[in-house]
Amino acid sequence: MNKDLLSLDGAIGGGQVLRSALSLSMVSGRPFRIVNIRAQRSRPGLLRQHLTAVLAAAEVCGARVEGAQLGSTSLSFSPGPIKAGDYRFSIGTAGSCTLVLQTLLPALLCAPDHSRLQISGGTHNPAAPPSDFLQLAWLPLLRRMGAQLELNLLRHGFAPAGGGRLELHVQPSQLQPLHLERRGAVLSQQARSLLAGVPGHVGARELERLANRLQLPADALHCVHLPEDQGPGNALLLEVRCEQVSELFAAFGQPRVRAESVADLVVDQARDWLHSDTAVAEHLADQLLLPMLLAGGGSFTTPRRTPHLDSNIQVIQAFMPVRIHCQPLAAERLRVSLTPTA
Ligand code: ATP
Repeated sequence: MNKDLLSLDGAIGGGQVLRSALSLSMVSGRPFRIVNIRAQRSRPGLLRQHLTAVLAAAEVCGARVEGAQLGSTSLSFSPGPIKAGDYRFSIGTAGSCTLVLQTLLPALLCAPDHSRLQISGGTHNPAAPPSDFLQLAWLPLLRRMGAQLELNLLRHGFAPAGGGRLELHVQPSQLQPLHLERRGAVLSQQARSLLAGVPGHVGARELERLANRLQLPADALHCVHLPEDQGPGNALLLEVRCEQVSELFAAFGQPRVRAESVADLVVDQARDWLHSDTAVAEHLADQLLLPMLLAGGGSFTTPRRTPHLDSNIQVIQAFMPVRIHCQPLAAERLRVSLTPTA
């Protein structure tokens, strides 16, 4: 394995470039230096979520780190051996717990013993996987690859208040390659509107719009009233269970955004995937690459290339001797396959 310092340009993407680099550095033992962290974002550099991911990664593998400060746009990370443990990390804002969890999971799967991880912050954030996505879509595929883990949502956390908590139990696991060509027939669709300190009519309107556009029966619609002190927050979640894969589509209520518009965002994502006849939608696509790397191979079909998929491919190929090939197929489908080259 190559242990030379790797230089990365963070401007090829957002926080995911940094988080994937941390995961890859931990599992490979290869040090890296990254510049231009989140250079294209409106507030470049390390936000609390990214800084927590860096400090947490450093604790899990005893890394030497330079540049781990809020706002920093460059960082050096030199990992040591991965340690199992009972870890607790607090983001301190509503920054996404799930993104921090995804950063650490590859290392904890390779740790010498069982680990427990608690992270507090946001569990339902725009532009990040809601914890339900991990539980219903991502983790079932990792389990199919051989990962032994369990995730519990202890408390919901929405932006801007945060205060959510996730707990993960992980056993060391050797992953096996997974090939996802088709999703299979749709078995069921269930929609939930989470409401914390938000009036019930918001959830009712979201669910009504979703049901009308997707022809869902009344027993597939659920308004979930959370304790007010977990809010304010509102997320609309649609779980689509298919024979081979389950997907979860999400959108978030915001001040001055109509409930019907929130529902439309969810419907548009779900329809885009359902019409594409591919195994996984865009978010699973970029998030399956690291587990497939640990497994030594894998492939899936997905509707198209996305910036997250492209930048994640670049980071993984920079770190590891693998080839990730995107092959366009007929009818707007793409097959992504990961194969070791050494
Ligand atoms: P920034 O873009 O500001 O740097 P960031 O650090 O939050 O932000 P990104 O680089 O944008 O990180 O990565 C976000 C990750 O969250 C990607 O893996 C993306 O696929 C995933 N994601 C975004 N929205 C969803 C969603 N609704 N469901 C599942 N995953 C999501």
